[in-house]
Amino acid sequence: MNQIIIIGSGPAGFTAAIYAARAGLKPLMFASAIGIGGELMNTTDVENFPGFPEGIQGPDLMQKMQEQAERFGTEVVYDDVTELDVSGEVKRVTASDGTVHEAHAIIYATGSAYRKLGLEDEERLSGHGVSWCATCDGFFFREKTIAVVGGGDSAMEEATFLTRFADKVYVIHRRDELKASKIMQQRAFDNPKIEFIWNSGVSAIHGETEVTGLTLQSTVDGSERELAIEGLFIAIGNDPRTHLVHGKLDLTDEGTIAVDGRSSRTSVAGVFAAGDVIDPHYRQAITAAGSGTAAALDAEHYIAALEQKQNAVPATV
Ligand SMILES: Cc1cc2nc3c(=O)[nH]c(=O)nc-3n(C[C@H](O)[C@H](O)[C@H](O)COP(=O)(O)OP(=O)(O)OC[C@H]3O[C@@H](n4cnc5c(N)ncnc54)[C@H](O)[C@@H]3O)c2cc1C
Repeated sequence: MNQIIIIGSGPAGFTAAIYAARAGLKPLMFASAIGIGGELMNTTDVENFPGFPEGIQGPDLMQKMQEQAERFGTEVVYDDVTELDVSGEVKRVTASDGTVHEAHAIIYATGSAYRKLGLEDEERLSGHGVSWCATCDGFFFREKTIAVVGGGDSAMEEATFLTRFADKVYVIHRRDELKASKIMQQRAFDNPKIEFIWNSGVSAIHGETEVTGLTLQSTVDGSERELAIEGLFIAIGNDPRTHLVHGKLDLTDEGTIAVDGRSSRTSVAGVFAAGDVIDPHYRQAITAAGSGTAAALDAEHYIAALEQKQNAVPATV
C-alpha cells in the first residue's frame, strides 16, 4: 500500500511530490501518458517564476521540478488515471493499463484546460504569439498590436490589462454585445487603446514562426477579412479537469474542486486537491506550486493521524 498517490505532474503535483518525498512518504505519481509536465510544457519563456532572473523555458522548468521530485524518491508513472475510488479509508486508483493502486491519501492535481478555438495553427503558435494568459505573457507584447478573443469578464480584464504593454488591442467577439459585467465592459469601452470587432470569429491564425495576422469571419454574413496583429490572447473560458471526481468530491459553482478554507482538504477525508483544479482566480505556476506544498503538508498530517489511530492501544480500566 502506498502512503500517497499524486495525480498530475504540473507545478502543483511536482511540488507536492518534493515535499511528500522529503517527508519520507515515497509518493507514487501518475504523470499522465501524454500530458507530462502540465500546461507549462506548452509555453516558451517563463519570466515570473522566482529563482530564474533570466527566465526559463517552460519545459526546462518542469524537467527541473521532476528531477527534484525524483531525487528524493518520487516514483513517476507515465500513465493516466482512469478511475478513482475514494469511498473507503483505503483509496483506490485505476490506471489506464488496468492496474489498481492503493493509498492512504490522494493528492489530486490535474490542473485545468484553457478552452481553445480549435484552429489548425493554434497549438503550433502557442508561445509564439498565441497565449491564454495575459498575466504570464503580456510583458512580451510591448508596443505591439494584438487581439483578444472573447466577450466575458476575463476577456475584458485581459484586454484592459494588456493595454499596459500593447499599443493597440482589438477585442474580437462573436456577437454584438458582451457577456461581461457592466463595470468591466465600461472599463474596456473607455480605454482608448481598445477597439471592438463585433460579430466576428477567428477562422485562421497566420504566421511561420510568430503570429502575423488573423482571418476573421463575420458571424452575420460569412464574409472574411484579414487583420494584421502580432499576438492573440484567447479568453473564452477554462475547464478544471474534474471528470474523475464528479459525484465523489464537492465542486464549487465555478467547477473547481471545493476545499476547506486555505487548506487542500476536499469533502472526502484523505483526498487533497491542489493547483489550478481548485483555483478559479490566480492560475499561475507559483500559486499552483504553493498549493501543492499545502496539499503535501495536509496529507502528511492526515497520514500521521491515521497511524496514531491505528497504533493506539485501547485504554485499560
Ligand atoms: C500557454 C500557457 C502559458 C503559461 N505561462 C505561464 C507563465 O509564464 N507563468 C505562470 O506562472 N503560469 C503560466 N501559465 C499557467 C500555468 O501553466 C498553470 O497555472 C500551472 O501549470 C497550473 O499547474 P497545475 O499543476 O495545477 O496544473 P497543470 O500544469 O495543468 O498540470 C496538470 C497535470 O495533470 C495531468 N493530468 C490530468 N488528468 C490526469 C489523469 N487523469 N491522470 C494523470 N494525470 C493527469 C495533466 O496531464 C498535467 O500533467 C501558462 C499556461 C499556459 C496554458
